[in-house]
Amino acid sequence: MLGGGPAGAVAARALALLGVPVSLLEARAGDTFKVGEGLPPAARPLLRRLGLWERFEADGHLPSYGNASAWGTSRLLETDFIRDPNGHGWHLDRARFDGLLREAAREAGAQVHPATRVTGCEPREGGGFRLSLEEGGELEATWVVDCTGRTGWLARRQGARRLWEDHLVAFVTRQAPGPDTRDEDSRTVLEATVDGWWYTARLPSRERVVVYLTDPGTDPARRARTPGGFLELLRETEHLGAMTLGRGYTPPEAVHAQAAGSSRLAPVWGAGWVAAGDAAASFDPLSSQGILAAMDSGQRVAEALKAHLDGDGEALGRYAQRVDAVYASYLRNRTRYYGMERRFADSPFWKSRAHPGSP
Ligand SMILES: Cc1cc2nc3c(=O)[nH]c(=O)nc-3n(C[C@H](O)[C@H](O)[C@H](O)COP(=O)(O)OP(=O)(O)OC[C@H]3O[C@@H](n4cnc5c(N)ncnc54)[C@H](O)[C@@H]3O)c2cc1C
Repeated sequence: MLGGGPAGAVAARALALLGVPVSLLEARAGDTFKVGEGLPPAARPLLRRLGLWERFEADGHLPSYGNASAWGTSRLLETDFIRDPNGHGWHLDRARFDGLLREAAREAGAQVHPATRVTGCEPREGGGFRLSLEEGGELEATWVVDCTGRTGWLARRQGARRLWEDHLVAFVTRQAPGPDTRDEDSRTVLEATVDGWWYTARLPSRERVVVYLTDPGTDPARRARTPGGFLELLRETEHLGAMTLGRGYTPPEAVHAQAAGSSRLAPVWGAGWVAAGDAAASFDPLSSQGILAAMDSGQRVAEALKAHLDGDGEALGRYAQRVDAVYASYLRNRTRYYGMERRFADSPFWKSRAHPGSP
């Protein structure tokens, strides 16, 4: 298993429970900040099924009771989770959450190797790969599940192509509360602007994550790269600036740019490898479905691979078809959602998403 995010951890756990010997290699040490903190209420039954509910509850993630968005209108409109049968959602400490999933994989029997980056892969005679590790040493695998996120590290090296719908880039900052900050707002708040959109959410650390999403190569993208430019853009917003700087949060000290575009891999599997999670198909953060989709994909890839190893020659093909179907359905929703913002209909950012394929 290459990559120990939600997809890799869930896949490793499932394979171990199915009796397949599995090693999980994760480049990160475990406690480094990771963006992607919104977990929707639908995660509750999934965490129960994984037997992780009690430990998840005890892990101190922040409950979130809804969203508010200035999208298609300058007013903030609320969406409350009150009618959701699964209750509230959460703002996660992502490093802790991913760590819990890896721990579950370890308990199921997977060999988990944190702080282990794979830097080379050579096909082996007779199938599978020889993987070289950054720290030195090698590991042999008859199959590799590529769960390395949007980079699709191994798949790319096997000639798979990444088909991008867009190249959305996220400029991610964290803002610490000041001495006078009083903030009990548990919502994720979104705001559409002419060249992109923003979101903010409180984190269990009491910081706020503040993210600006736009297209690369544009003037706002150039400005957002530096803390000073980011701050200027934040001050130009109608709501987000007031919710962060206006509440006494300290200005960001660093801006981290991260790919956030919609993409899928073609093909999703090949000789000795198969991709899952973001590596197979990645979604716009607007969908808030990345973590759940990655966990679901981890479970399904494990079942498909086990079936393949047991002689079902169609299992990985069916898995690939499902990845395509989920992605196609997601793209329809994405077009509909971006189409709801008509105030900036002439802006290239909104036009390309509300009317994909138009000049
Ligand atoms: C700005 C932003 C905001 C987001 N917000 C949300 C949100 O609110 N809710 C939500 O559900 N989703 C959100 N997402 C999406 C979500 O984070 C991803 O969909 C999810 O993390 C995918 O899980 P994954 O396991 O496929 O990949 P990842 O979580 O990306 O995990 C891949 C892992 O592979 C490891 N890796 C990579 N290369 C190697 C290598 N060579 N060797 C070893 N390890 C390697 C990485 O260290 C990483 O831990 C957001 C994404 C972005 C960019």
